[in-house]
Amino acid sequence: MTLGRALPLWQDGARFDSSSRRSAVDGVVESDVVIVGGGYTGLWTAFYLKQLAPQLSVSIVESQFVGFGGSGRNGGWCSAFLPMSPSEMSAEHGSQAMRFLQDQMFATVDEIARVAQSNNIDCDFHKGGTITSASDPAHVERLHHYIDDWHAAGFSDLDMTWESADQISQRIRVSSTLGGMYSPHCAVVNPWKLVTGLARTIENLGVVIFEDSRAITIEPRRVVMERGEVRAKWVVNALESFTSQLPAGKRKIVPLYSLMVATEPLSDSVWHSLGWNHRETFADGRNMVTYAQRTADGRIAFGGRGAPYHFGSSISDRYDRNKTIHGRLEKTVREIFPQVADAQFTHHWGGPVGAPRDWHAFANVDSTTGLCAGGGYVGDGVALSSLVGRTLAHQIADTGDALTRCALVNHQSKQWEVEPLRWLGVNSLLALTEYADKAERRTHRPMKRLLALRDGLLG
Ligand SMILES: Cc1cc2nc3c(=O)[nH]c(=O)nc-3n(C[C@H](O)[C@H](O)[C@H](O)COP(=O)(O)OP(=O)(O)OC[C@H]3O[C@@H](n4cnc5c(N)ncnc54)[C@H](O)[C@@H]3O)c2cc1C
Repeated sequence: MTLGRALPLWQDGARFDSSSRRSAVDGVVESDVVIVGGGYTGLWTAFYLKQLAPQLSVSIVESQFVGFGGSGRNGGWCSAFLPMSPSEMSAEHGSQAMRFLQDQMFATVDEIARVAQSNNIDCDFHKGGTITSASDPAHVERLHHYIDDWHAAGFSDLDMTWESADQISQRIRVSSTLGGMYSPHCAVVNPWKLVTGLARTIENLGVVIFEDSRAITIEPRRVVMERGEVRAKWVVNALESFTSQLPAGKRKIVPLYSLMVATEPLSDSVWHSLGWNHRETFADGRNMVTYAQRTADGRIAFGGRGAPYHFGSSISDRYDRNKTIHGRLEKTVREIFPQVADAQFTHHWGGPVGAPRDWHAFANVDSTTGLCAGGGYVGDGVALSSLVGRTLAHQIADTGDALTRCALVNHQSKQWEVEPLRWLGVNSLLALTEYADKAERRTHRPMKRLLALRDGLLG
């Protein structure tokens, strides 16, 4: 079957014909909880609901198939880091609340490994930590500043530390490093194996998953689809970036595109020369986000932002392919890892990540209307969605757990601007970030004023 979308590496070999799909909602379905969206947020919410309140009936409605969104296409960084920095969190919620949330995130990476292991979800989980390597003096200054921010917030070198060029090179031999940041709080996963394994696990716990069931409206006590509806006391929006496609969600979340490439499996001699034996996740210290992992089958999967925001927050399979950005990613891989100069790139794909106006994730439950929502991960959702799902489940099950009072709960972000201001603003942020990287390469100094201007645009 030909797919209209770019096939993510992780889904190569998966079956997408109609006989492998779960059934669609047809008529009226009654449930205690209905979750809209079959990605990590929806599946983790269902998983923890079945642990905390097994008597509740839980249904999930998914417009395409489980893992169609970011959960089946991401870079596989299962990272304990939040889109919000410790200083931003402390300023908004106080240092205790920041510490509580961050400690929960550290623990969540291990919790994902625990759940995967105890439910036979073979998702190639490996916790090797994360490296951000400085390839320019401007990166060195910025990374030191970042580490200082963490230390000022009470975290130690055991959580995040500076490593010399020699230390980084012992981990992974890149073309040029001046040292970098290392943290142990990150693992790699195969995202598709995780999302499909989670779906099987919750079905075994009694959760019903409907596919090919696009929600047209999400209302208190019901979700309406073309061929039916699900009525429930609790309705959970787990659509993340796709919230922007609902009329009421246009200004809540902006879909930002993140694109990826993957090499063919590399030879033993290439791996010998690269090192990278602990499969740490890897990023370059530039301003525009980059992310890489050594996959379990010996490829480099490498992603980055920088693709344009599309007018009206539109999302389309077409945007998953972008020759310019994919070409730029291939070039960057070859620059950072010259050992792969002759390797073929076998996969090119991408997808939207959801950005709220203040980059702040949320786990919101309104017990009056029964409407709930989790998301706002800005590309950091692999581990965070698990914590958000657990937080939503504790709130719905009314356990009184400390998570029900954490900084994710009932957070309301400001709305994004109306168009064309949104289009101008978001694409200006991307252009400023790209310009700052070029300027830093030329001057070898961090573009502090320019970046402050960019951050000011978000303020
Ligand atoms: C290319 C890429 C790389 C990434 N890399 C990383 C990474 O390395 N680490 C990290 O932490 N995060 C990463 N992310 C982000 C991460 O994948 C997401 O934050 C996470 O998967 C969000 O999960 P979710 O369940 O909230 O949303 P999704 O996985 O997007 O799930 C939402 C689901 O809702 C469905 N849907 C849409 N509209 C409707 C509707 N109307 N009715 C019913 N269902 C609907 C969609 O089909 C989708 O399956 C990346 C994202 C992308 C796109």
